[in-house]
Amino acid sequence: MTSLTRRSVAARHSGANPHPGTRPHPGTPYRAPAAGGRPVPNRKGSGRVGPRGVLSVIGLGAVAVIALWWHSTPDVSGLGGWLTGAGEVLGLLAGYGVVILVALMARLPPLERGIGTDRLARWHAMGGRYIVSLVVAHGLLILWGYAVEAHTTVVSETAALLTQYPDVLMATVGGFLLLGVGLVSMRAARQRMRYETWYYLHLYTYLAIALAFSHQFAVGQAFISNLAARFWWSAMYLTVAVLVLWYRVAVPLRAFARHEFKVIGVKGEGPGVISVYIGGSHLDELAAEPGQFFRWRFLTRSLWWSSHPYSLSAAPGTDVLRITVKDLGDHSQALSRLRPGTRVIAEGPYGAFTAGGTGRGVLLLAGGVGITPLRAMFATLPGAVTLIYRASSEQEIVFRDELDAIAAARGATVYYLVGTRAEIGGDPLSPRMLRSLVPALDQQEVYVCGPSGMTSAAVEALHAAGVPRRQIHFESFEF
Ligand SMILES: Cc1cc2nc3c(=O)[nH]c(=O)nc-3n(C[C@H](O)[C@H](O)[C@H](O)COP(=O)(O)OP(=O)(O)OC[C@H]3O[C@@H](n4cnc5c(N)ncnc54)[C@H](O)[C@@H]3O)c2cc1C
Repeated sequence: MTSLTRRSVAARHSGANPHPGTRPHPGTPYRAPAAGGRPVPNRKGSGRVGPRGVLSVIGLGAVAVIALWWHSTPDVSGLGGWLTGAGEVLGLLAGYGVVILVALMARLPPLERGIGTDRLARWHAMGGRYIVSLVVAHGLLILWGYAVEAHTTVVSETAALLTQYPDVLMATVGGFLLLGVGLVSMRAARQRMRYETWYYLHLYTYLAIALAFSHQFAVGQAFISNLAARFWWSAMYLTVAVLVLWYRVAVPLRAFARHEFKVIGVKGEGPGVISVYIGGSHLDELAAEPGQFFRWRFLTRSLWWSSHPYSLSAAPGTDVLRITVKDLGDHSQALSRLRPGTRVIAEGPYGAFTAGGTGRGVLLLAGGVGITPLRAMFATLPGAVTLIYRASSEQEIVFRDELDAIAAARGATVYYLVGTRAEIGGDPLSPRMLRSLVPALDQQEVYVCGPSGMTSAAVEALHAAGVPRRQIHFESFEF
């Protein structure tokens, strides 16, 4: 063991194992304890799409929507005409945008693997704010424009629209539902409610979309006399509805029947941290990769109704998967009471936090329970790998024996940076410290996973230390 500083780096291993009893035979490949069989090969690159490609397609769709409005609007004149025209184009963009928002969350494998669930969730949240604004602006501009054109007040025009125009009342209810969902999704409101409460309220978005659909054809200028536009617009909504049902409902149920996931054991890893071993058949067909996660629904009386994301903490095997969970709330605490034989619906694998074969050295940077996906990657990545594991106390470190055994078997280096900043006497993840621990830091492909504060500080420190942003990958445990 080499102590770089007494508290900040509690242990360093480079090929040598400080726990003689745990050292595998020289040359014996390390086998992850959770993987009952051989690790599944890395299939990075198959069927993935990149963020730029997806954003370009979304942008082209928006241009086509504006072209549709242009095509259906031969003449715009006067204040009333301009207000109505602006309201119509914003309404069309909102009608297109909600479909995109739903598609981003449809759990489409190419998006999940190419872009990553956390980034898709950020796009969805940001897009949701724009769409709610578009819906509100659409309603107000149409009301104002119609009132100007009819030489009446906005109040009497509102009454006329709601009572005399087909399907507008239903669409208005849908619009208010969407606004409500937007309000409960604002950070201040969301932090005050349980995740599950927010999640189930969020599902009212589907009802809002259904309520607003028909008014587009009933009163929308772009569709009234354009059969082709009605066809393609309906096809877009229908396709996304089918994809949602397929990937969010049918695929998990089919996987449940095919793989027969069952809890086979629960093991304590440290204070408040347990590993759950889940057995199943034909697990290699899942093509799960170290670094990915599943949404797990444990079929017990108290847990069946919610699924929670947990990363694989060991390389997936052909008959066993392992997750490791820190008790942070109701669900994570309840997992320690799971009994062998409990059936499980596992949705996934998801996530783009997987290593590609760039040929560069790899640095894995873990904080707290963020060690889970990195533990799986540490055991399986080819080439030179360094692991830095940041924890505020010795008790918080999990997998110490496993990590040391992996380091010893593959000749890798692992640093444990333990203690509070005050104890350490500074920031253990400063650019200077990172450069001193990892030779040729700027040449490394870096994977960071930990609490959000630590992750953003680490990403900035790495960048300041000269690592290009495209070489820094991180996973957030918060959607
Ligand atoms: C991609 C990903 C991978 C993760 N991997 C791991 C892991 O390997 N080990 C681990 O210990 N934790 C992991 N987490 C975090 C874990 O999902 C949450 O700690 C857990 O769901 C908390 O649920 P709870 O009921 O115990 O706590 P609560 O107190 O109900 O929730 C605490 C926080 O967890 C988040 N959360 C709660 N329920 C859900 C849900 N159903 N879906 C998404 N987020 C939710 C919310 O941000 C919430 O504020 C991961 C999270 C994500 C997004």
